Amino acid sequence: MSSNYSIAIHGGAGTLVKGMMTAKKEAAYKIALSDALETGHNLLRSGKTAIQAVTEAVKALEDSPLFNAGKGSVFTSEGKHEMDASIMDGKTLNAGAVSLVTGIKNPIALAKDVMEHSEHVFLAGNGAMQFAEKMGYPLEQAAYFYDALRYQQWQEIKDSDHFQLDHSAKKDAKFGTVGAVACDISGNVAAATSTGGMTNKRYGRIGDSPLIGVGNYANNKTCAVSCTGSGEFFIRGVVAYDVSCLIEFKGLSLQNACNEVIHNRLADIGGDGGLIAVDSKGNIALPFNTEGMYRASKTNNEEATILIYDS
Ligand code: ASP
Repeated sequence: MSSNYSIAIHGGAGTLVKGMMTAKKEAAYKIALSDALETGHNLLRSGKTAIQAVTEAVKALEDSPLFNAGKGSVFTSEGKHEMDASIMDGKTLNAGAVSLVTGIKNPIALAKDVMEHSEHVFLAGNGAMQFAEKMGYPLEQAAYFYDALRYQQWQEIKDSDHFQLDHSAKKDAKFGTVGAVACDISGNVAAATSTGGMTNKRYGRIGDSPLIGVGNYANNKTCAVSCTGSGEFFIRGVVAYDVSCLIEFKGLSLQNACNEVIHNRLADIGGDGGLIAVDSKGNIALPFNTEGMYRASKTNNEEATILIYDS
């Protein structure tokens, strides 16, 4: 039994440079991050599990139009929203994931239901939608997910073969895959990640976020990890599990393992982005190799930290 508990969340990493946003917009991001953080932290404080805390924190981020997950998801090449999410319980190694889902307000809740109410780990496309229907999920209209800036980002590249991270759009970019990792008072860890993917994505493209061991992983023996960044590179780097392996098999600390993966291994293959991680003692690491990452963290004995830029 550990008495330390902690939570960290992210809202995407990318070209986040000081002065790029208005003070008002920056404040809006910080409020959204703070609300999600406190939602998760309050649950941990009242003795709830890490799984409950990461689910509710991610739901709060999905409900905010500021982030590329749930409401505010990016547009596909067909002008739709196709969302991916995954969740993992570090105590049992149970996991659930969904991909290419449409009209679902909180994809992370559906991923959790796959984990808890199906015999499978990963459901995609029509199958995931059939499962959602069976579980009684209402379908939101496209208008619920619409965001004017995301629409504009799509308009700029929709006639090309390109797809892009909402992270890397130049000026007034809204960034945003979301994630949460937590360690509860029993020392159990969990991770949850949710995304709209990449603007103008096509061909049934699936990124790292719903892939267990890539964009999301949790294991009490090592850590819980949620990633954000250029998904294709994260897939090739098997990023989340790589962090876990460096701790388990090489004895690295949480911070050193995270730094090695993000600043060396991922950077070496050309990947950009970051991750958030906790271990079962409540330690937190928040590395990224981009200009910034929307991030927040809080332990049982420290005040909340809410940051956007590198320094
Ligand atoms: N990793 C996500 C993906 O490739 C994008 C992101 O982090 O914003 O789908």
